[in-house]
Amino acid sequence: MEISERLKRRFDRTTVLVVGLGKSGVASVEALSARGADVIATDEKPPAQLRDAVDRVERAGARFATPENLGDDLSGATLVVLSPGVPPSSPLARRVRATRIPLIGEVELASMLCEAPIIAVTGTKGKSTTAALIAHLMRACGKDVRLGGNIGDPLVGVVPSAPAHAWVVAELSSFQLETAVDLRPRISVLLNVAADHLDRYASIDEYAEAKFRIFANQGAGDAIVLDRDDARLAALEARFRARRCEAERLWYTLGPPSQGVAMALQGTAIVACAEGVPQTIADRTDVPLFGTHNARNAMAALLAAMRAGCEPESLRRALRTFAGLRHRLERVAEVDGVLYVDDSKATNPAAAAAALRSFEKPVVLIAGGREKGTDFAELGVAIRERAKSVIGIGEAARTIEGISGSMPFETASSMEEAVERAHALARSGEIVLLAPACASFDMFANAEERGERFARAVKLLAERAHA
Ligand code: ADP
Repeated sequence: MEISERLKRRFDRTTVLVVGLGKSGVASVEALSARGADVIATDEKPPAQLRDAVDRVERAGARFATPENLGDDLSGATLVVLSPGVPPSSPLARRVRATRIPLIGEVELASMLCEAPIIAVTGTKGKSTTAALIAHLMRACGKDVRLGGNIGDPLVGVVPSAPAHAWVVAELSSFQLETAVDLRPRISVLLNVAADHLDRYASIDEYAEAKFRIFANQGAGDAIVLDRDDARLAALEARFRARRCEAERLWYTLGPPSQGVAMALQGTAIVACAEGVPQTIADRTDVPLFGTHNARNAMAALLAAMRAGCEPESLRRALRTFAGLRHRLERVAEVDGVLYVDDSKATNPAAAAAALRSFEKPVVLIAGGREKGTDFAELGVAIRERAKSVIGIGEAARTIEGISGSMPFETASSMEEAVERAHALARSGEIVLLAPACASFDMFANAEERGERFARAVKLLAERAHA
């Protein structure tokens, strides 16, 4: 029987309830309806805010019901798909759990529907960059690659069209991994674990465990790519051994080649160390992105691409042509000899510290926004090492001031004002960096809008400078 035929049978005459009608919820409804399921969709938001989603639900041949209109048996569903945006503690999620109907997440559903092997990427920071880079490298090597998950389209929207010979590169957050049960990536990539989202998790250990679900089902024939320099990850090797994990571990390090490491740095050469003989794959200078953290992301991506069958000889050229992603250490413009860099996606202190450490030259840092319960101490250290002055914005401005020590500090009440102040403070040859270390929701719709506002203010400066 064809795989797609089998998948169809799996959902024929099954009633499935999809909870949460964000992008991925709607994509789940569409994928399930296309496979013959009887789908009911629900969301706690008032129907007036859900008009577009409900339209798509109905066009897919499914039904929308408000939570009040669902029966105590949740209207006969035998499977529930919970969208990642619905907190497990919400009333609706609790009601679902109380019924004991099997519950899966959107990513789990996508993996059930997926005929192609999956390369899954997670970590606190660097997911989008690494997932996009893997897709770029593999496409440059002639592979058919679909990219989705946290980046671009929801995974469940991407997989139905991916044939068995293609590869699906999936960027997965810890929220998405929480509800994964049988997900088994052919290759998993675990970049780092730093404190983040501690407003949702009781501790960093609990958060790390959510991320570790990425390799829970991997076994013989699979591979796990991990950063050896991240202490929390390095400690996993003992656990892999204790559990007799048969998936191959591919460790990378910015240090020199050593026992058990698959990729390392030898001088400035990025070398693969299969069977102990180092083979140069590329050079540090081939990574067209700022910062040592991006050298790590590049190593992770190179290992994943090699494991997926890309020829090492083609990878160097492919690496050089990666354009990077918006709002991640993105060069915006040079004005009066000062380089303006937008790292609006640095939404936690660790990312902002990594951003600061990407530059040798003095940095005027713009930081602040909504705090997420994380510790700012490490960012304080990076500020004292690399910044020449700091401009605080948003709710966290005082926190940023507190960690900046005796560093010159100012607050700005808008992004435009922050850019004006930065312009006044920076001298030729220096850097102005937006790396907020916080969420954006106190002042902006999202991190993208925050970055756009920064870029627009910088472009106005540039126009004035050239007038
Ligand atoms: P994510 O998708 O995990 O949020 P991105 O690739 O979008 O990660 O990068 C977001 C920000 O995180 C970047 O702008 C950079 O400041 C920081 N960052 C990226 N990669 C790393 C890494 N490997 N280690 C630490 N910080 C990183």
